[in-house]
Amino acid sequence: MADILLRNVRVGDARQDILIARGRIRKMGAAGACAAWELSGDIEMMDCSGKAAIPGFINMHTHSPMALMRGIGEDMHFHEWLAKIWKVEEHLDHDFVYWATKVACLEMIRTGTTTFNDQYWFFDSSVQAAREMGLRIATGYDVMDKGSRGEAERQKEQCIAKTEAFLHAGDPGHILELAFHAVYSVSEEMICWTAGLARKYDIPLHIHLSETRKEVEDCQAAHGGLTPVEYLDRLGVLSPRVFAAHTLWVSPHDIELLAEHGVHCIHNINSNTKLASGYRFLYNEMRDAGINLCLGTDGCASSNNLDMLEAMKNAAIFQKAWRDDPSALPLQELMDMATVNGARALRIDAGRIEEGAVADLSLVDTDNTFFLSPGPFLANLVYSAHSDCIDSVICDGRFLMKHREVAGEREILAEARKVLAKIA
Ligand SMILES: [Zn+2]
Repeated sequence: MADILLRNVRVGDARQDILIARGRIRKMGAAGACAAWELSGDIEMMDCSGKAAIPGFINMHTHSPMALMRGIGEDMHFHEWLAKIWKVEEHLDHDFVYWATKVACLEMIRTGTTTFNDQYWFFDSSVQAAREMGLRIATGYDVMDKGSRGEAERQKEQCIAKTEAFLHAGDPGHILELAFHAVYSVSEEMICWTAGLARKYDIPLHIHLSETRKEVEDCQAAHGGLTPVEYLDRLGVLSPRVFAAHTLWVSPHDIELLAEHGVHCIHNINSNTKLASGYRFLYNEMRDAGINLCLGTDGCASSNNLDMLEAMKNAAIFQKAWRDDPSALPLQELMDMATVNGARALRIDAGRIEEGAVADLSLVDTDNTFFLSPGPFLANLVYSAHSDCIDSVICDGRFLMKHREVAGEREILAEARKVLAKIA
């Protein structure tokens, strides 16, 4: 793998030279400094005048194979929508998941995402697809027994076999985790069993939590008034290992529990608003309680794309609007949600452009109308530009996209059209 030298690239307010080697940012200096660096071996040089470098986005909650399930449940309430999704998912197989994940990866690369936290069936096929595309993926076996004893036993056996196989494989580009879908779709026994396994292997546990008002009310009715957060606390599930998607309908006591146990919470504004699950994500309250807050797109069956810039803009705009406060969710905190906070949850040294960090970054084309104004760069990026300003993407020190070209794009689209017949 060739080293990469980015010359004269904007980082924050300065223009810099950046040397990338063996997957990390090895050297940075003021533009022109590289003339004095001792460089040897194979070096790929890029003149980055007119470009800015930003950390690769970390999409902390998605279901990548849903990239081929867009539009199958439009204008529906959450539970009606979910029932329809489950019906379609009965027809899926490895081949579908593999090509659908490739489509998702293509879209994530084109919109500047370098790492994604996924939850889906046939996850081994998603791992294969993501690794072939060069993206870093966090995923693992997803438990959902819907209260069926037979299904629970079958899933236990499969889950252990697959988890142990991946533990032994030890690919650093695949962050192995476990998942259970939600408190309403998984039996108490399987919730405890999955959490126990995540504890035993010391790997993350990726769940949906307090996504809709109905989920909270049903949980309270079934479990003596306990909210989903309180219920999981009673079962001993909450810990810094837990990645909780949504946490939209949480009480002050829920926030205390999430903070106390170090749970990482993931906001998915596009999915929540489109399914009318809600929009009053308690960003300030959870941040002030010390919770690590991340951003996700959720799957394309709800959101309907994987564009983190769009998610950032909407997350900020909704906070400002419902709080009647234009200073809510300021730009740097928004950027941190989409980058370094996800890295913290996943325990990877990414999400920042500094010497020594993992070389996951995007080069933004600033030679266009959106970046002409002298306003803050992040404001131009988030509120003015669209993700087609992402010119090139580097993950783990390798170019995944160069000047908007991604290798294999045509084949992926052609194969994806074929597997779509399986859910037609
Ligand atoms: Zn989800």
